[in-house]
Amino acid sequence: MPDKNKAVFLDRDGVLNQEMGDYIRYMKDFHILDNFAALKTLQDKGYMLIIATNQGGLAKGWYTEEGLAEMHNELKKQYKAHGVEFTDVYYCPHHPDFTGPCDCRKPKPGLLLRGIAEYNIDPAQSYFIGDRERDVEAGTAAGVKGILIDSDQPISTILDLIA
Ligand SMILES: [Zn+2]
Repeated sequence: MPDKNKAVFLDRDGVLNQEMGDYIRYMKDFHILDNFAALKTLQDKGYMLIIATNQGGLAKGWYTEEGLAEMHNELKKQYKAHGVEFTDVYYCPHHPDFTGPCDCRKPKPGLLLRGIAEYNIDPAQSYFIGDRERDVEAGTAAGVKGILIDSDQPISTILDLIA
């Protein structure tokens, strides 16, 4: 039985970049939070770092996949400069009012289940850090331990909750 990987899944807005109260449409509103050292610590403990974010603004046409990719490239670049690599970035592009129901919009666990399958992750050894109850619900539904933080709360403050 090959060893499985473990992961820390991360919500985006309010966790990796400043919560702005709504979908972030423009680069000028994308303010990356300094969780560099905390994520380096988790990476060094052997956790994959995987982002899971609802981006219903895509369904609403508020921004494009290209615009979103620009934000995520900047995020990856800044973290990489601190030695941190995200294994993947998953986003739900749907919104129930515009594209109907889907399996990936949190609190649905679809994004997490995808990561678990694609990277051979053991959910029982994994976590999901988010600033909304729906993140914890998605985590629980996927079998990973949800950790609820306040928006923009430094991840360093909850590191002791992660084995
Ligand atoms: Zn979706």
